[in-house]
Amino acid sequence: MGSTNENATARLEALDAAILEHAQEAERLLIDLVAVPSVNPLQPGVDAETYAGGESRANELFGEWLRGAGMETQTVEAETGRANLVGIRRGSGAGRSLGINAHIDTVAPQSGRFENPWKAERIGNLLYGLGATDMKAAHAAAWLAVKALNDVGVVLDGDLHIHSVVGEETMSHGLGTTAVLDAGFDVDAVLIPEPTSSGADLFRLANTAAGNYLFSLTVRGKSTHWASRNLAIRAGGGGDAVGVNAIDKGFYIYSAMRQLEEQWAFTKKHPQFPAGAFIIHPGVLHADIGFAAAPYFPDRARFDYLLSFPPGETSEQIREEIEAHINAAAALDPWLAAHPVEFEWIDTWPPAYTDPSSDFARIALDARNTVATALGAPSLEAPQTNGAQSDASFYEARGIPALVCGPGNLLVAHSADEFVDVNLIPAAASMIVRTALGWCGG
Ligand SMILES: [Zn+2]
Repeated sequence: MGSTNENATARLEALDAAILEHAQEAERLLIDLVAVPSVNPLQPGVDAETYAGGESRANELFGEWLRGAGMETQTVEAETGRANLVGIRRGSGAGRSLGINAHIDTVAPQSGRFENPWKAERIGNLLYGLGATDMKAAHAAAWLAVKALNDVGVVLDGDLHIHSVVGEETMSHGLGTTAVLDAGFDVDAVLIPEPTSSGADLFRLANTAAGNYLFSLTVRGKSTHWASRNLAIRAGGGGDAVGVNAIDKGFYIYSAMRQLEEQWAFTKKHPQFPAGAFIIHPGVLHADIGFAAAPYFPDRARFDYLLSFPPGETSEQIREEIEAHINAAAALDPWLAAHPVEFEWIDTWPPAYTDPSSDFARIALDARNTVATALGAPSLEAPQTNGAQSDASFYEARGIPALVCGPGNLLVAHSADEFVDVNLIPAAASMIVRTALGWCGG
């Protein structure tokens, strides 16, 4: 046994040495990937024409690098111009397969300190550029891991996949991750190196994330001259027959929603989340008669909300709960009882949850602890929560365990000057290699 352990240790040392040897090339790959604008064309405020085909071009470039590292590549194009890339490094066939999932789309550019967001700029150890942290550093780390496995001649027992997907930033998983799974590229587990290294919180390994739901409520009123307010709201007037101010009715509904949020602080629980973690956030309020003019009764008020909810509950259950609560409150108001609140359920991201005591979680946690403690971060007893949603939810929907852990910094993701610490890319590659050896065998 002693010599087996010594061999294993020597092999890991050789892998880490190979990772460091190719780290500069991995940085080159990251710079080249940042240089291809792969802005998700479906984001609000983005001109889709400008960025048409960008994701495919970035995946073409990445495919060349993966083939250069000996991987078989295939594309999955559920929508023309938005090609996913699948890279496969075949195992000997006996072991479990592992996927590394990284989305190739980025958020829209914002004006920041650099003129060109697609020209990566390195300052000290930080590499700035759109998508550097979220999440092209993960592509570089995945390539680096494969390169090291090749150099050391490791044959894994199971297949190693890289799923470089489109559409993640707008939860278009039907074009991205779900399309890849539908095309038959199943894996037995997946590691998603989304940004989870923020400041001292290095390589947070996440097995769970809250679900969310984006929705709007519209309350209707009845327009009339502003000066009739006394007749509409005071004794002796005609009441609702005169006019109904949608702002007044909207705030009644707002209060009901706020009351539900207070209840949620006690009723919505999950052992991995702190008390009161789940919220119903009002983000947009519009109320007017179709244009902004105070001398009228506004005849509609629309609130846009974004809520979060715990693993174990479904989007459908949340939707039913909100509608029942608001409809019950509205039933107590004669106008709202007769003019029901209109709900628009816009988008939902299901929660993520993989058993933190599963074999996969234990293997990935060991890998994470080895890599993160070498960088001075504390060892973790168990996987943690992710501060953001990810494609983990859509692997789990197929029964595939999914964990999130990567080199980027969530605090600068989606910001004007996102950056990644380039030293974390080899560390992420080392974690991927260790997880692959532990999970796939070989
Ligand atoms: Zn991301």
